Order: sequence, then C-alpha cells, then structure tokens
Amino acid sequence: MNRGTDRSALRALLGPERCREDPATCLAYGYDNSRRTARPDAVVFPESIEEIQAIVEWAARHRAAVVPRGLGSNTTGASVPVAGGLVVSTERMNRILEFLPRDRLIVAQSGVTNEAIQKTAGREGLFWPPDPSSAPYSTLGGNIGTNAGGPHAVRYGTTRDHVLGLAAVDGRGRCFRTGVRTTKSAIGYDLTRLIVGSEGTLAIVAEATLRLVPRPTECLTYRVLYRSPEEATESLIALLNQPIPPSAIEFMDGAAIGLIRESIPGLPTGAQALLLVEIESDRPLERTARARLEQCLAHAGLMDLVVAESPEDAGPLWLARKSLSPALRRLGSGKINEDVVVPTTRLPQFLGELTALGTEHETAIVTFGHAGNGNLHVNLVFDADDAAATERARLAREAVFRLVLRLDGVISGEHGIGLSKRAFMLWQLDATSLTLMQEIKRVFDPLGLLNPGKLLPDPTDLPNSNPVK
Ligand SMILES: Cc1cc2nc3c(=O)[nH]c(=O)nc-3n(C[C@H](O)[C@H](O)[C@H](O)COP(=O)(O)OP(=O)(O)OC[C@H]3O[C@@H](n4cnc5c(N)ncnc54)[C@H](O)[C@@H]3O)c2cc1C
Repeated sequence: MNRGTDRSALRALLGPERCREDPATCLAYGYDNSRRTARPDAVVFPESIEEIQAIVEWAARHRAAVVPRGLGSNTTGASVPVAGGLVVSTERMNRILEFLPRDRLIVAQSGVTNEAIQKTAGREGLFWPPDPSSAPYSTLGGNIGTNAGGPHAVRYGTTRDHVLGLAAVDGRGRCFRTGVRTTKSAIGYDLTRLIVGSEGTLAIVAEATLRLVPRPTECLTYRVLYRSPEEATESLIALLNQPIPPSAIEFMDGAAIGLIRESIPGLPTGAQALLLVEIESDRPLERTARARLEQCLAHAGLMDLVVAESPEDAGPLWLARKSLSPALRRLGSGKINEDVVVPTTRLPQFLGELTALGTEHETAIVTFGHAGNGNLHVNLVFDADDAAATERARLAREAVFRLVLRLDGVISGEHGIGLSKRAFMLWQLDATSLTLMQEIKRVFDPLGLLNPGKLLPDPTDLPNSNPVK
C-alpha cells in the first residue's frame, strides 16, 4: 500500500476537522479491544454514503488501504490499520433515518450504537434481537461487520438474521443497495447475508434496514446449579427439545463458579456447572407448560434452583454472569478470551478435555458463555510477565482450536476472525471454500484496499493447514 500520499483532495472534500492526520488522532484510532495497535496515515469522518464513495475513489487512485471502523470494541484486531492508509470512522453517521413500527423496521446509518437502536425500538414495544453486551459502545456497522450476537441468539439468531438490506460502497467506489423491506423475497444471490460478517473486507456499510421483533411481556429466569457439566448439558438438551424456546441459556463451569462465590453467597459447595435460563412469553405460562420446563431443569445432579418471575427480580440472578469478567483479573495479569462453538451435545466432552488440556499446558482455564448455541468463551489466564507461561497459554489456545474442530465445532461464534484467527481459517475451511472466498473478495475489492490483512489467511500461512481433517 502507498503511504505518504498527498491527501489535499481529501482535506478539501471533508475539511480539516473531518480529515485528521495529527499523531494524537492517528494513535487514538489505531487500536481496538484486541490491544493491538498500528498507525494509520489519516482518519476520515464521512457523513454520507456519497462521502464514503469519494473517499474510496480517492483511495483507489492512490492505492491506499481503507479500514472501516465503528467504535473499535472488537477483540480480534479487525479494525487495526495494519497496512496504514485511511481509517474510516463512522462516528458521524449516527442517525436513525426511519422508524416504521407498524412494519417492524428501522433504517439507520452504520455509526448508530446498538443501544440507540434498542432505545428507539423499545418506544413501541419492539427490539432488535442482536444484543451484544457491548451495546452502548458498539455500532450497527461493527455488529454487521462481525455478525454480532448475544445471550438471546439461542432464540432469535444473530445479526445476519435481522438485517433485511444494506446500502454500501465496494472497493472500486461503487455504491449499491441490497435486500428488501419485506419479510419474504426470492431475488437471486443474497448479498446482504454475504456482507454481514465480512469484517469490512468487501464493502463499507453506510446504512442498514433492520428487522425488529415485539418484546414479550412475561419473563421467567432460573439459576440452576448442577454437580457436573454432563448433568447440566442433559437439562439443556431437554430444554431445547421442548416446544417453548428458551430465550437465553448461559453456562458457567466450576472454575467460574469458584470465582463468583465470594460476591454471591449461598452457592452450594461442589457445584461444577451453572445454567442461567430465561423463558420469555406473551402471557403467563400455563401451569402445565411451566411444570414441563421445570422438569427439564430438574435433571439428576441438580443442587440448587432459584427462579425470578420478572425482569426486575432477575437482576440479582444475572449478577452471577456479570461479576465474572472483573473476577477473572484476580487469576492472572494475562488473559486470552477465546470464543468457540461446539454442538451442544458435545459440551460435556469439550469441557472434560478442556480441563485435561489446562493441566497439560499448566494454564488456568475458566469457561462460560452462551451454551444454548454451544458458544463458549474459553479464558486462558496466565502471568503476562512470565514468558514461559505466556508461551504455554499460546500453545493451549491452539490445542483448544484442535479440540473444537475434532468435535465438529467452529473457531469463532461471535467475535469474528480479524487478525488473530486468520491463520486458523486454514484449519476450519477446505481449500476450495477458501479459494471461493478469495475470488469473492477480488470481485468486490480487486485492488485489495478494504481492510487488508484481515479475515482471509495469507498464502504464507499455508503450512498451517488443517491438522484435524
Ligand atoms: C466488554 C465487551 C463485550 C462484548 N460483548 C460482545 C457480545 O456479547 N457479543 C458479540 O458479538 N460481541 C461482543 N463484543 C465484541 C464487539 O463489541 C463486537 O464485535 C461489535 O460488533 C464491534 O462493534 P464496533 O462498532 O466496536 O466495531 P469495530 O470494532 O470498530 O469493527 C469491527 C469490524 O467491523 C468492521 N466495520 C465497522 N464498521 C463497519 C462499516 N460501517 N462497514 C463495514 N465494516 C465495518 C470493522 O472493519 C471491523 O472489521 C464485546 C466487546 C467488549 C469490549
């Protein structure tokens, strides 16, 4: 990529306030939550799709990299400008353009936060199902870039399931609109779903049309502790196979329970698994439906069950999950937070082998996450000042990926690939699928300007090819 290019045309287009080249701004927009950092040559702040188009046209003329950026909360280095060039911040594209409650639609610019979308939808008893816990500081564009999800994905799916259409600019500077405003369509290739999850490597999203759903009025929340992960998994499978779909099923392993014990008194000793189960409905559950649900939870091995009958009463139960991340810091200064998925029926085998893997690599492992989807956050905790411990954690991470693939799982559930997992795409996907992805990339972005170095593996990563299949 070309560095040190004359950016006077960009300054003329956007004005000095919206085309920043000073070191402080470049530093502030060169990092993300992966803690990696790289300096862009400039940061630009467009306000419309036409300005994004002009920026990409300028970049194409000067062969400059273009990195779309929401609020940089991703954990994989996906918005770090490793090839320099321009960071395109969507901060100023933060308007809700249309709210059509009768059609259950919102059209919004890509820099709007997830929280602002939820607030608007909530005014009419609706919500947008993707609910990452980063809602206040992640944008619609970032949620689309990473196909973000949250606890409610078990019932509603992820971002990809709730974006009906997009307006975007490709790597040649062409504006295009995808998708529909209807709940059905049959009009060829689904470009909307292709762009969701593409981490800014195919197009820069300027706005999106979102599908909203009515917010159920009733909510039951259970916190249940079990003697073993096997017994918790049996309950989970029973829950997923009954007609009332749970809206969230969160899991914590024994190590995680140990960490929150101090802040949540009364947890039974010896518990090795915790489930938080939420059931939403439009009216109070009939007695028989509720009894059936509780029968699923009351599997052998149950040690403790607490139920909250309203969202307000559920607050203290969710505290178990919310107090975990701060508690993790007590275990060590270094933490690799992995995000993997296995089929729900393989959870006990996964958790069992994970414990053995932690012992083998002398690394503390704490696991929790969205078990209803089999999506777990595996935290490898170590002393960051100890080089040998850091290397052991690195090797443990690779072993986790090998285990996941052996169990027919996936190396990323919601955090994406970015920089940190791109080499492992060779482990996950077959060579033809990867070639097709490279070819799709070239169609949208023939000069390779959009977010270079992300998502797709580099040819030099090839020796790492799949160790499992
Ligand atoms: C405390 C915390 C909790 C989190 N919890 C969750 C969670 O529950 N679920 C979850 O899924 N994630 C979670 N995340 C990760 C993160 O918040 C999400 O990945 C989020 O979607 C990123 O949004 P962002 O606006 O910060 O995007 P960024 O981090 O800036 O960008 C993310 C990716 O999207 C691309 N992108 C950004 N804007 C555009 C655009 N307009 N057009 C095209 N591409 C674009 C970027 O190039 C990059 O590849 C969490 C992060 C933190 C720090």
